[in-house]
Amino acid sequence: MMIITICGGGNAAHTLAGLLGSKPDVRVNLYLPLAGEERRWQEGIKTNGGIAVHFPDGVSIGRPHKVSANPAEVLPGSEIVLLALPAFAHETILRDIASYLKRGSWIGALPARGGFEWCGLDCLGQQIDSLAVFGLQTLPWACRIERFGHSVRVKGTKSMVEMAARPADKAGEMAAVLEDLLGLALRPVDCFLCLTLANTGQLLHPGLMYGLFRDWDGAPFTKQPLFYQGVNADTEDILLQMSDEIQHLRARLETCFPCMDFSFVRPLIDWIRCSYPNDIGDPTSLQSCLKTNRSYAGLTAPMVEGEHGWLPDFQSRYLTEDVPYGLVVTRGIAEMAGVKTPVMDEVILWSQEQTQKEYLVPCKAKLCRKLMGKDIAATRAPQRYGFSTLDMLDR
Ligand code: NAD
Repeated sequence: MMIITICGGGNAAHTLAGLLGSKPDVRVNLYLPLAGEERRWQEGIKTNGGIAVHFPDGVSIGRPHKVSANPAEVLPGSEIVLLALPAFAHETILRDIASYLKRGSWIGALPARGGFEWCGLDCLGQQIDSLAVFGLQTLPWACRIERFGHSVRVKGTKSMVEMAARPADKAGEMAAVLEDLLGLALRPVDCFLCLTLANTGQLLHPGLMYGLFRDWDGAPFTKQPLFYQGVNADTEDILLQMSDEIQHLRARLETCFPCMDFSFVRPLIDWIRCSYPNDIGDPTSLQSCLKTNRSYAGLTAPMVEGEHGWLPDFQSRYLTEDVPYGLVVTRGIAEMAGVKTPVMDEVILWSQEQTQKEYLVPCKAKLCRKLMGKDIAATRAPQRYGFSTLDMLDR
């Protein structure tokens, strides 16, 4: 019997618990440190008998074995540990569970977001060498809880998800086992750096928020604007320019790390055309891809309802996860590589103002900006880990 422990209790954790818990040779535990979640899961499982995962073409029902807010009750003996939660929770969870991880076990994040490997090194120290660490480029499913502790709906499954591993030569073996467990196609890539650069959420989410709200005058909206379909030509340009900046960085890293394959770090327009081959009505431009992608149809910008209408939600993950654990990480690598990123900087500066954080600050001569703001410690920028040369990035 293989023991798999899932850390986290949200949409992704419900999907994993129902999916993996349905396998006769797998025992699923859940580590749920957030206040109240252990009780809500226990009540749900007691009443419903397990978690139902509703896929477009069927249902999978799985019953977790143990759920607990105490790592000592669920982690020991686990062969695989899955971090299925937002990137801002990775560090706390890794520190909580470190002493319960057994030698040779696998630990991975779905999705990894930027700089996951450095966070792992920082939290686990030398212990990391006794483990195998992996990260997925994205969460394979678009999923939402229907009833907590009871059911989750999977709206779509990615046809292929890229995966990085540490040590890198274990990626193939790990991908094969995880593919079998998750029922997905996984493609090993050379390094976590590839995942960091290829994270398209870091461009789309903050970029579209910036495009939608940079000229906002503070007046409430009468309805929630469309998020992807609301893209105009100016915002398309911002997204394309940020994507170009990443391609310049990719080219620079290719010269620094000639043995590594960065080909999977594609321009945003290539990524969207490949990821949604059957969903895009008009693939002519990035704007048309966003506007005519059926998977994005009707999705609205994150907003909160105020007394007089809708207000932008600047505390949404699109700024609080995708900036410090996405765009800022990539910007940090660019800073070390000497690659200029003026458009990325513009988006980060606007985002940090909305979230009242400070990442980028003017350097002494005021001719440039550097990632030296007071909130760098709450990001995964390489500067936060004290890396000073590019070769230190390949950990
Ligand atoms: P979620 O909001 O449903 O998960 C939140 C859960 O994370 C909480 O219920 C809690 O269990 C855990 N958590 C949050 N903060 C914590 C903390 N400080 N300490 C301990 N636990 C904490 O998120 P999700 O939808 O499951 O998404 C997980 C990740 O996948 C995120 O990075 C998200 O951006 C990404 N993602 C999700 C989807 C999707 O369709 N759900 C799609 C693509 C990517």
